[in-house]
Amino acid sequence: MRYVDENVKNEMGLYLADYLIESGCTTLDGFEMRNNISCKVSCPNPAHGDNPPSAYYLGNWRYGNPVVHCRSCGNVWDLFRLIGVRENLPEFSQQVERAWELYGSRDRSAATRTVPKNLQAVREEVATEDKVRIQQYILNSQQNILQTDFWRKRGFTEDFVKARGLGYDVQKKRLIIPTDTAYVAIATQSDESVCYKSPKGISVSLSGSTHLKEQGGVFVVERALDALAIEQAGGRAIALNSVSNVTLLISLAKDSPSWFFITFDNDEFRQRMGNDLSTKLFVIQRVPVEFYYDAWHPYKGPTEWLSMEGHGRLSDHIEKMLLESHMLDIPRKQNGKRKEAISR
Ligand SMILES: [Zn+2]
Repeated sequence: MRYVDENVKNEMGLYLADYLIESGCTTLDGFEMRNNISCKVSCPNPAHGDNPPSAYYLGNWRYGNPVVHCRSCGNVWDLFRLIGVRENLPEFSQQVERAWELYGSRDRSAATRTVPKNLQAVREEVATEDKVRIQQYILNSQQNILQTDFWRKRGFTEDFVKARGLGYDVQKKRLIIPTDTAYVAIATQSDESVCYKSPKGISVSLSGSTHLKEQGGVFVVERALDALAIEQAGGRAIALNSVSNVTLLISLAKDSPSWFFITFDNDEFRQRMGNDLSTKLFVIQRVPVEFYYDAWHPYKGPTEWLSMEGHGRLSDHIEKMLLESHMLDIPRKQNGKRKEAISR
């Protein structure tokens, strides 16, 4: 059997959430965050035929790797066992290889050789290969951006979407928004069941993480389109894109000079997720952070605000939140002037 470094196993095991989403057992929207990350999902056991959902994803299980536990059929799986069950791969070495193929590498030759101890080096090598493929796809889609009025109807301007490199996949009828490492593809047709998609086998990462190096207020939202709406109105925003990126954001926030405004959609589990993220940012990284209940009232989120009121009114709303923030009373180096909280 292949020797698997414990760190490598742990890192790959974190992709269980992605695997559940890609297997259709839950959606990104279905994820919920409590003290630890947990959410109800359909049982991923093909033999169970679970309806209604009776399984739970447990992101921070006491034994380390995230697991999914079905209360109905009683099974517990980590990523590797689940791959074994779903893809009929009984050997642990096969499961690791498949996990590696999905989340460690796109390159078959890399997947069949012994997993090196230095995962980071391999990740980067693989990322370069993926980057080319993804970059090409984004470039192609950018040629078609004028073939959809999806963004125009929501209040985005042509200059803005072109400057941000948005694209349109004519075949799949999806708006393509580049993220820090890849892209998200948003359904432009209301009959599409999966609204947000991301490329298979690669972590979609955050949107706008470069803002973490800047001073001033930065809004944290869940979806890339919401982040863009805020930026169209002159604010700065970071999108999580995936619930599994919460940890990434927390780790990147270390030493950031930004003030964080956590403004998720106004529904119960997103509010809980926002509250939890705020607490972690404050407790772990000690960054100034403010959590807003119902930040985009009377609308669901910044995108809806932009589409209903236009960027001028959204800009006023953003500025108001920044100016009223109690974080401005926290003495900080360099950025004492309240008016500079928002940068254009
Ligand atoms: Zn089950």
